[in-house]
Amino acid sequence: MDPETGLDAERNVGVRGDRIVEISSAPLRGKTVVDVSGLVVAPGFIDPHAHGQTNESHRFQARDGVTTALELESGRPFLRQWLEMKEGKTLIHYGATMAQGALRVMAMEKYRDVAREARKIVETEGFDHPRLREVLGEGFSARYESLTAAELDQMGEGLSAELADGALGIGVPVGYYPGASREEIFRVYEFAAKMKAPVYTHVRDPNVAAIQEAIANAAAAGASVHIVHLNSMALGQIGVALDMVGSAQKQGLDITTELYPYTAGSTSLESTLFDEGWQEVWGMDYGDIQWEATGERLTKETFEKYRKLGGTVIIHMMKEEWIEQGLKAPFTMIGTDGMPYHPKAHPRSAGTYSRVLGRYVRERKVLGLMEALAKMSLMPARRLEGMAPAMRSKGRLQVGCDADITVFDPETVLDTATFEGGLTESKGIHHVLVSGTFVVRDGQSVAGVYPGRAVLGKYRR
Ligand SMILES: [Zn+2]
Repeated sequence: MDPETGLDAERNVGVRGDRIVEISSAPLRGKTVVDVSGLVVAPGFIDPHAHGQTNESHRFQARDGVTTALELESGRPFLRQWLEMKEGKTLIHYGATMAQGALRVMAMEKYRDVAREARKIVETEGFDHPRLREVLGEGFSARYESLTAAELDQMGEGLSAELADGALGIGVPVGYYPGASREEIFRVYEFAAKMKAPVYTHVRDPNVAAIQEAIANAAAAGASVHIVHLNSMALGQIGVALDMVGSAQKQGLDITTELYPYTAGSTSLESTLFDEGWQEVWGMDYGDIQWEATGERLTKETFEKYRKLGGTVIIHMMKEEWIEQGLKAPFTMIGTDGMPYHPKAHPRSAGTYSRVLGRYVRERKVLGLMEALAKMSLMPARRLEGMAPAMRSKGRLQVGCDADITVFDPETVLDTATFEGGLTESKGIHHVLVSGTFVVRDGQSVAGVYPGRAVLGKYRR
């Protein structure tokens, strides 16, 4: 099945090296022949929103059919070093935007020394050094602070530098730094327009006004924007939020969005999302918050205790109808928002794509199979390809395209990870190839293979 040409037929697929070289109804010969009769052969899934970026996370992602997992929402600070660290050692394809949240702090006069120390640690010790977390923590309070005019200029220089490191755009999770003024964020969109680099944003607040801020900035600056996880940003107003994005596209604006197929979100309890008044903002209470480490639901007492400690929570604040509405819209993509690996992490980290295929396509017929595949492969590839030309040969099952291929059984594919049980591998995903190399074969992870390559922005020098 190829969502771009609409091909949905019985074919033999020939792979040589890292490319698809033949798609034919005639029999093909090859060194390795895999019988996939009865199964769907599709382009590998492209996740535009993957916070889990270690091989431990990638293993679950691959078992869910993912061949490319990108960190576009938050971005990665020290992008060049991060890309170097993953090179030749990664299971599936990877890449990231620049982290505007970090760059704004590094531009602040009072955090210059902290930023310099952090850079030195990354360059000499790598990312795993315990002091790095401490140093970055010192800049953390900056989330409530605004930039001066001089600091705004300084930030612009940081943005330019990261483009040369291979950033896929600008990650702007402004919802996590309320100190960012409207001017600051608009300046980022102006920069994005000038460089033709898309913005990926977690908008300022979970409401329509914040979605309008992103749309207005993109329209006024002439920038491209992708609004991440529209379901958790729009909440009960997803209907009008979808209409805004759909209408903006009809007006010719380059505005896209994505969602994940779950009724709970996940984030850090110490983040600004839980500042005073969070109950009203999110329409939830203590009992709707689940502590990742133990799976327990919170009370006023445990909320206060754990917020001081810091850690990941799962927040149950959405309704099933909102998710269905989001999936039905023809222009929404699927992005997992999968979390860094933890055995009890949000199940979206392991089951997103199988869940869409099993529950929403097969069981409930909320959307068609080809439509779902487009949302998982072709649409994210198209979103990215202006910035990353390599994406033109991904997200498609065509001769000449990359051999990033997912083979699954449409009758059995299903997520198995749950909020109670934590991460478990999806079922019904039989084979996954990354650049022509099996990373999943006969439903099992293949050990010791690292075919993943960096997806780089076009300004990489
Ligand atoms: Zn987010």
